[in-house]
Amino acid sequence: MASAVGTLRFLGAAGTVTGSRFLVSTPHARVLVDCGLFQGQKALRLRNWEPFPVSPESLHAVVLTHAHVDHCGYLPALVRAGYHGPVFATRGTAELAAIVLPDAGRLQEEDASFANREGFSKHEPALPLYTEDDARRAAEAIVPVAAGVEREIAPGVRLVLRRAGHILGAASVTLVLEGPPERRLVVSGDLGRSAHPLLCAPEPPDVADWLLVESTYGDREHDDSRVADDFAEAVSETARRGGVVVIPAFAVDRTEGVLFQLRELAASGRIPRLPVFVDSPMALAALRVYRRALAEGWDEVRPELRGRDDVLDPGGLEEVRDPRASRALCEAPGPFVVVSASGMATGGRVLHHLIERLPDPRNSVLLVGYQVRGTRGHRLLSGERNLKMLGRYVPVRAQIRDLAAFSVHADASELVAWLASARHAPRGVFTVHGEPAAAAALAARVDRELGWPIVAARDGEVIRL
Ligand SMILES: [Zn+2]
Repeated sequence: MASAVGTLRFLGAAGTVTGSRFLVSTPHARVLVDCGLFQGQKALRLRNWEPFPVSPESLHAVVLTHAHVDHCGYLPALVRAGYHGPVFATRGTAELAAIVLPDAGRLQEEDASFANREGFSKHEPALPLYTEDDARRAAEAIVPVAAGVEREIAPGVRLVLRRAGHILGAASVTLVLEGPPERRLVVSGDLGRSAHPLLCAPEPPDVADWLLVESTYGDREHDDSRVADDFAEAVSETARRGGVVVIPAFAVDRTEGVLFQLRELAASGRIPRLPVFVDSPMALAALRVYRRALAEGWDEVRPELRGRDDVLDPGGLEEVRDPRASRALCEAPGPFVVVSASGMATGGRVLHHLIERLPDPRNSVLLVGYQVRGTRGHRLLSGERNLKMLGRYVPVRAQIRDLAAFSVHADASELVAWLASARHAPRGVFTVHGEPAAAAALAARVDRELGWPIVAARDGEVIRL
């Protein structure tokens, strides 16, 4: 058997799309790639409360692929449990995580105090997983690293980040483990689409001995030909009925994608000009980072959009900051569009909009991102006619539209094309970050089309590198 220089252990995002955490250990260092929160079904969410499998103090470094909570949202819990080392990520991820993490901490605190008030919790008293303060401290530990520059992050471990085109700052991670023999591990992170309206396409993977590839849409193809038509049709029909279009959107990137699309459709006369409200303090904070990235022409922004922060204003954009204005908007008559977080309707202000708008058939709800099983977004997509929200049942009579092609995740063909753009076949590939069917479908396709050794990562499994 070939000698190994270390091990890789799958601590999440194996057989599921959340809780991305991969632990790399060598005789001299321990590095954690991604530090994500488990989301969705309760059995998964409970895993956030398990003690971290190794002592957090024993880690030398953490690397984040991007600022989505399922990739970075466990970091404050790790810091609270005693991790004091550096956290490496791109500038975009550092800036967005400084917005996303405190918000996640605030939601944890709100959920705990709500559970205490209403007496739902089996724990007395219910405690947050971490607080907003913990999250701020965690975000401050992030050290920005430029993409494409190799840097030693732990004894005998070097890091290179490559643009992944998924959201601003998103990167694939290459870890070079000193040998002999030298070993190279590539973790794709979430991969974007070449059709992303604002960001450049993902860079090809670095040369790798071992490669982890996300498989969110490993069994699906996005139909780009329909997405603008479906979007235009949904908005126009709702406007004709005098209804409200509710778009639960991930605060980071989907809000920008939706605003860009609304601007294009309004400019070409395919939808009427309507007021567009962004009702999410976090989405508005992220929007400022995107505007700056566009205005300053960051490398990952599409060249033709550098210097053009106006492309995120569909005309009539209203920024809703005050909670009272948000409540008033819930009762305001249509037609208008409201974009609000969270993207899978698991929490946030969008719940109040849904409670108000779902019972009326004039309204519509557009689902523009991946909906994890067990979330309200997934229930809406599956056609449930009654949805439990904030302790009551809400009848679903509004039109529900699935606009999955809006996703910022590559589809199966794009994943295969990304792998195929590698200069050499790795010795082994693992699918991660996918439901079992999606992961299996991608593995079968890679085996068939590229002939590479590939298997689905199993939770808790340890691989010799
Ligand atoms: Zn992501």
